[in-house]
Amino acid sequence: MTTETALFTVIRADATPAPSLPAFGQFIGGKFVPSTSTSTVDIVNPATEEVLTQVPAGTAEDVDAAVAAAVAAKDAWAATTPRDRAAVLLKIAEIIEVNRELFETLEAANTGKPPAVAEDDISSAIDTFRFSAGAARAYSTLGADDYAENHTSVIHREPVGVVGVITPWNYPLLMAAWKIAPVLGAGNTLVLKPSEQTPLTTLKLAELIAGEIPAGVVNIVTGPGRVVGNRLSEHPDVDLVAITGSVGSGQKVAAAAAGSVKRVHLELGGKAPVVVFADADLEAAAKGVRSAGFWNGGQECGAACRVLVHESVADKFTELLVREISEITVGTPGAADAEIGSMISKAHYERVLAALDDIRKDGLTIAVGGRAIEGPGYFIEPTVVTNVPAGAGITSNEIFGPVVSVETFSTDEEAVTRANETIYGLAASVWTKDSARSLTVPRKLDFGTVWVNSHLVIATEMPWGGFKGSGYGRDLSSYALDDFSRTKHVMYNRG
Ligand code: NAD
Repeated sequence: MTTETALFTVIRADATPAPSLPAFGQFIGGKFVPSTSTSTVDIVNPATEEVLTQVPAGTAEDVDAAVAAAVAAKDAWAATTPRDRAAVLLKIAEIIEVNRELFETLEAANTGKPPAVAEDDISSAIDTFRFSAGAARAYSTLGADDYAENHTSVIHREPVGVVGVITPWNYPLLMAAWKIAPVLGAGNTLVLKPSEQTPLTTLKLAELIAGEIPAGVVNIVTGPGRVVGNRLSEHPDVDLVAITGSVGSGQKVAAAAAGSVKRVHLELGGKAPVVVFADADLEAAAKGVRSAGFWNGGQECGAACRVLVHESVADKFTELLVREISEITVGTPGAADAEIGSMISKAHYERVLAALDDIRKDGLTIAVGGRAIEGPGYFIEPTVVTNVPAGAGITSNEIFGPVVSVETFSTDEEAVTRANETIYGLAASVWTKDSARSLTVPRKLDFGTVWVNSHLVIATEMPWGGFKGSGYGRDLSSYALDDFSRTKHVMYNRG
């Protein structure tokens, strides 16, 4: 369906290179092996609705075989030096770099991403492996010392053992890299389950690095979350399970993990507030929301999706924002100028459209966008929703699409209280030219990352992770190495 004004159309690339598909099977013990199931999952290009290929709909038995391979490999991998592990991580980075175009094309075909996002994903994945290689070598503990008479204490940081990793569909290779790099850097082996919708780049990575890592250190099992993800979470030989996904999936993983009292690392959803004060550079804030609210089509856990703007500048800011968003270009993966692509799947596209219906039913104003764009492909118009009262559904529900809402506030206290009124605590931003405000407001916001006069700038050296319903555990930075290690105290009696 097109809008009455057809402000947005899809730029369709004439020809895109055929993606190089990965080998078929489960990657266990260093090679692709058949699944114990003959069922498969269709992998779809959401920008064209074409079926690209199939992957196995894996089983609990597949997970058990992969965990056994990871257990068999863990002592030898844990015994390697940081320098040896860094060499492997640097080699993985090099392999991705050499095959950059292949990965970008494959990722875009599986997700409907525009070129700029696919390029950024792959560059960031490379950087994550390079950073973890260096961080693993620089990682150290307190020197030995005496804390009891005649006793000397030594702290060891050890690998946790076998780590189960469950990844989402929005940045498939990048979210895998955020886990694989520090998990291996800290000396663990792993079994990774990619999203059932987007396994291709993760499988391709396994195929290309197979000759560079000892068998069993990295294992990939495809299949549904409720089967493969659940078995990884409950498996007695998995020592830690890490998931990036929705709050509901995180709760299920944590519940399944409780049976074996394993450690859990949760990177869950978000609903990032963007607090725009009256003294802010409104044009910069509107441009910031354009890039950070609509990056990856808004399918981004830290997306700048909920603007709280001071009432005195709300009209001016909304005018600037609507102008910015009206200019966004929508396109298929090969369309060089596209800013946003398709939604990830038919099901997700329908979820976003249903959220837009609810917004209409709530009587809110859709200032621009708000509808599907004519197919093929699951495209939705970039959308700005205004006249949003405090407490409206859109202020708290994660839509995970190209939809940004605008609310107003009167005082700084109200801005902080309202921004914190969400179950999520992943990311937020503050826009102000006032230095006192720029120092005080971030400290009062209950979010794991707070940007000032910026949004969604990610640095590999800095931690990423949430508070409250957004989970716990940190990706990136040396904090990730901490999360994937365990602390041991050895005390020597010298008496
Ligand atoms: P999802 O929760 O549907 O799926 C994530 C993964 O969990 C998939 O691999 C899925 O198969 C698996 N899964 C589902 N049910 C499971 C179960 N019962 N047991 C074990 N595993 C299970 O999420 P999604 O739709 O793929 O991704 C979008 C969500 O991810 C959003 O909520 C988004 O905010 C969040 N996300 C968070 C971050 C972050 O860094 N915090 C990053 C990216 C995405």
